[in-house]
Amino acid sequence: MAYLSLKNINKIYPNGYHAVHNFCLEIEKGEFIVFVGPSGCGKSTTLRMIAGLEEISNGEFLINGKRANEMSPREREVAMVFQSYALYPQMTVYDNIAFGLTLQGVDESVIEERVQNTARILGLSDYLDRLPRALSGGQRQRVAIGRAIIRKVGVFLMDEPLSNLDAKQRVTMRYEIAQIHQETGATTIYVTHDQTEAMTLADRIVVMKDGYVQQIGTPRELYFDPQNVFVAGFIGEPPMNFLRGTVREGSLFFGENRLDLSHKLRDVSSYEGREIVLGFRPECIRLGLCRDAYQVTGHVELTEMLGDNTNVYVFSGNNQAILKIDSHDTPDTDSDIEFSIPLDSVYLFDGKTEKVIKDVV
Ligand code: ADP
Repeated sequence: MAYLSLKNINKIYPNGYHAVHNFCLEIEKGEFIVFVGPSGCGKSTTLRMIAGLEEISNGEFLINGKRANEMSPREREVAMVFQSYALYPQMTVYDNIAFGLTLQGVDESVIEERVQNTARILGLSDYLDRLPRALSGGQRQRVAIGRAIIRKVGVFLMDEPLSNLDAKQRVTMRYEIAQIHQETGATTIYVTHDQTEAMTLADRIVVMKDGYVQQIGTPRELYFDPQNVFVAGFIGEPPMNFLRGTVREGSLFFGENRLDLSHKLRDVSSYEGREIVLGFRPECIRLGLCRDAYQVTGHVELTEMLGDNTNVYVFSGNNQAILKIDSHDTPDTDSDIEFSIPLDSVYLFDGKTEKVIKDVV
């Protein structure tokens, strides 16, 4: 039996807006689940329904097999970490972390031990006497996490906890959150719009768009086996490239290029006259000609040197693509290049439904 079950969960706000549609997910104890998707897709709403901060309009939420729709947040034994740290400014780090236990009337010596232990996990032992204003953003967020983990609840809910930090702090805190999860083994549900956070932290990711779940899977599954154009374009940085065109005589034409789809599609004739989206990842291409690959010519508009790799922006026909290549091989801006897309790195999507075409060679 799953630890948390969300069965056909819907949220319709009082103004009639249907923010979450038929959300289904089974979560095992100890899993790190990430909800990811663009702003407004329903991630926070779903998290808040799990927390008990927002009513579930219909569907059923179970904790350990028991219906939890009507349980209060306290009964659900969840702790939530918000984007804004929500620390008490006049209290020391120690008192902020201890606050929940103090309210519950837990014995002072137990509190002392648990605060010290939590501070050790979070690297805050030297800061316990400080007020929040004397801490960096990353340290404040750690105090907020400490306040949640000290309660030893069953589930941690985190809503964009890193979004107030600068880029460097975000990377450090991301690593720390992964370590805290390893150390505590607590079931965690984490909301973010950042695919890198999702990919690096999650056991499983739920990709959402416009209130609908698009795909649920491990980071590997989402990267290698995206089910539709949206997921393919959302996961991966830079995003997957898409060449959109109509199939004529079994091929996709754009610019000077003709890609013979019979190399990929089993039943190519049934696609005649239909729109197809051909996807390939920036990191899978080779410069020059290769065997078992589509050869493409394009014009280099711009290059972005990132260190070991360079992003090369190429135009071909009406399509723009980003190629990620070894910086030693950077082509000149404004030059024409030839590159190869290995056939086994090509994804095909139906232009109308945007779903991946599975019947491929
Ligand atoms: P996300 O966390 O993915 O950015 P939210 O869950 O916050 O998205 O919001 C999902 C949608 O629901 C958005 O379109 C938002 O405007 C709408 N929404 C959020 N709260 C309310 C509310 N109280 N009443 C009506 N609509 C809301």
